[in-house]
Amino acid sequence: MSDSIANHPAAEPSLAALDDAPAATVLEPHPIPPRPWHRRIPLVFKLTLLVGVTLAFLVAVMVVANGIFWQNVLRKTVDNHLISVASSRRDMVKAQVVQLRQRSELNTDRGELRGFLYELANGEASRENREGSQQTLDRMLVKPVIGVSLADSSGRVVLSTSPAMVGRDVTSYASFKAGLSDTYFGMPQRDKGRYVAMISAPVRARTAPHRVYGVLLVMNDISELAKALRDPTGLGETGDAILGLREGPQIRFLFPPRNSPKVSAVPVDAAPALKAAAEGREVLMKVPDYRGVPVVAAGQPIGYGGWGLVVKMDAKEAYLPILRVVQLEVLAGIVIMAMGLVAAYVLARRFTRPLRELTQAASRITEGDYETAVPIKSTDEFGTLSANFNEMTTAIRTRRAERDQAEEALRNADRRKDEFLAMLGHELRNPLSAIANAVRLWSVAGDDHGATELARSVIERQTGNLSRLVDDLLDVARITAGKIDLRKHPVDVSEAILRAVEAARPFLDERRHELSLALDSDARIFVNADPTRLEQIITNLLTNAIKYTRKGGELHIDARQEGHEAVIIVSDTGIGITPRMLPHIFELFAQGDRSLDRATGGLGIGLNLCRQLVELHGGTIFASSEGVGRGSTFTVRMPTISVPESTVLPQSPAHRESTGRQRRILLVDDNQDTVVSLARLLSLRGHEVATAFDGVAALKIAQEFQPDFLLLDIGLPGLDGYEVARRLRAGGFARTPIVAISGYAQEGDRIRSREAGFNYHFAKPVDFEALADLILEDPITGD
Ligand code: ADP
Repeated sequence: MSDSIANHPAAEPSLAALDDAPAATVLEPHPIPPRPWHRRIPLVFKLTLLVGVTLAFLVAVMVVANGIFWQNVLRKTVDNHLISVASSRRDMVKAQVVQLRQRSELNTDRGELRGFLYELANGEASRENREGSQQTLDRMLVKPVIGVSLADSSGRVVLSTSPAMVGRDVTSYASFKAGLSDTYFGMPQRDKGRYVAMISAPVRARTAPHRVYGVLLVMNDISELAKALRDPTGLGETGDAILGLREGPQIRFLFPPRNSPKVSAVPVDAAPALKAAAEGREVLMKVPDYRGVPVVAAGQPIGYGGWGLVVKMDAKEAYLPILRVVQLEVLAGIVIMAMGLVAAYVLARRFTRPLRELTQAASRITEGDYETAVPIKSTDEFGTLSANFNEMTTAIRTRRAERDQAEEALRNADRRKDEFLAMLGHELRNPLSAIANAVRLWSVAGDDHGATELARSVIERQTGNLSRLVDDLLDVARITAGKIDLRKHPVDVSEAILRAVEAARPFLDERRHELSLALDSDARIFVNADPTRLEQIITNLLTNAIKYTRKGGELHIDARQEGHEAVIIVSDTGIGITPRMLPHIFELFAQGDRSLDRATGGLGIGLNLCRQLVELHGGTIFASSEGVGRGSTFTVRMPTISVPESTVLPQSPAHRESTGRQRRILLVDDNQDTVVSLARLLSLRGHEVATAFDGVAALKIAQEFQPDFLLLDIGLPGLDGYEVARRLRAGGFARTPIVAISGYAQEGDRIRSREAGFNYHFAKPVDFEALADLILEDPITGD
């Protein structure tokens, strides 16, 4: 485990922590396996390739199918063309041959010729017949006939249009030999730039056709036939029509081929189409011809003398259109494929570009650029993906901002906590040093009653401060832990304010502030609250107002109803709150600028406590200040409730005043704080209060003030409470109710006070409400 971690520099700082971690939580470095080559090809090319291959396959199938189709069509066309050329030429040859033969045959039927030969065979021919026959022969010299000879049956030329021929022995001539039995079309010959052919026919006895007197040999100019036969029209460059016949192992061409004028005969195997035609078969062949060149050949028998006709073309030329078609198709295929590939590439880029942009954006985010956004270019799935991606980035950005804020808040809280601890030390040290001084004073005071009393009061005040401090701290802790227990019942807001004012009275007086109250005395405002807590809220605000206002300032408390809300406003003319501080004023441990004149220290808990308590009561609190030195205003709003009917409530001082039960009360106590606060409370209830701090003064003031109710501390300096009571009873205050207020509240103490003339005994701290009720309903006087 530690091996892999140790190799990972980023993991080093947390090495110790990781040692204890279970093995499963260890982060193994993820080696990225090398990607195989095909994964490294960009997607755009893969898609293009995919489309390209598909396209290539389709195009190939198309080209091949089309090629085969057109090849067949064209082959058929070529074949049919050759066959039809062959047929027409064959018909033409046939017709010419028949015509020429017929003409020769007709001429043999002439009587003068027959007679002439008959006479020759039987001795001497008559001159008449000879001349007649000669004239007949001469008359035969009509195109295409170029020479006519008459041979007797022994093979001697007896008459001819060409005198040189007369007397020639032609027994060896094929035309003579064949002509003895039937009309014979001899092999064409080349003669003086023409093609000539001898047609021979037997001259028979009229009555006995089997008797042959001789042979008529007609030399024809067949150049026209040769020309017509070998007409290249429709046969292209290499095409040819060849007339031939078989002669043993050879095929003999009647006319030399168009492109090989020297060749007149070839081996049988070298001209298979002509061979087949000569043998009387119609054929179409793709074979090498006598030159060894592949040809397409259509063979047709002429039906005469073993003649066959072949019309042929070099395969290359004949099938050239097919080649052209295939070439064209391949070209079209390539163009289609190229276009397809371009289209595929463009299309693929439509897919891959957003992906690439997303990938790049993701990388930028990884590098910490959270401002990055992907352009949204379409409304399709990619558009949605990009939009979602952007939303994700925004969400990350927001979370980061929130986290940064939270971190900042944590740092602030931490800083405030440190400040708080420092302040707490300071705040604790103040009362502690005062207490320590008091204790020291006490220990050296001896019988100095004034000194011990001062020490005691200091200790009392400072311990009070300390316990308030601790109470506040505990309250905050309790609220934070959700442990605070509110005992809610209907509370008169004005009453709570008055109590708070009384609680703060000593401090208020000490700072010589002017406090004005604007309480709605006609309409009582009730809220459902824990009275102690509500008082605590107002006291806190008031104490702050006192603290943060220079001596002799003006404070104001306003309470009114707005709709269903009770509004309590505590304002002062003090140091004010800076705009920077204002938003944080209710935060725990938040404290104002130290450089400002702070009358009294604090812990930055009070306002936080206020806010929490207000909120626990379903209310709100709001602070405002126009700036430094311009005072502050705190506004508390709480939901009101209607005036309860069934509940018996403590009456408000205003109400009590209206009862007319106002008393003149003399309050005697050596503790100034107690005297001042109690006197205030009582006077707020409408009583007239006089005060004295020791027994002698008490007796003197009693005479002057003539109280109808006396509150007397027992532990007074000089004359104690018992003595003062006794003297008062004796000195004109026999029936006036006197209440003992004492730190001693044992049964013995009570008896002793009663004996001294006290009517009632209250233990310190005094339950003010009980005392107030007693003052109003004193049964002794019955007033
Ligand atoms: P503390 O008074 O103990 O410092 P608080 O929570 O009561 O704590 O108040 C927090 C801070 O708000 C005070 O330190 C002070 O700077 C400011 N503040 C509160 N009330 C007032 C006021 N009435 N005028 C000016 N500043 C005030």
